[in-house]
Amino acid sequence: MEKTYEDIKIICKDCGKEFIFEAGQQRHFDSLGFQNKPVRCKDCRDKKKAERNNYNANNQTDYQE
Ligand SMILES: [Zn+2]
Repeated sequence: MEKTYEDIKIICKDCGKEFIFEAGQQRHFDSLGFQNKPVRCKDCRDKKKAERNNYNANNQTDYQE
């Protein structure tokens, strides 16, 4: 039986803003086997990702996208 998903609201751990964890994303999460809901909004996740990319760029000179 197909599981049904509904958009849910989550408070971002980093900025405290409310964001929507969309049904489609939940399905995607499930298909990847993730058990946990996201804790950060997209903005904060993008920021984290950018920081990580910066870190890599600074520490791996041969790093290329
Ligand atoms: Zn946030």
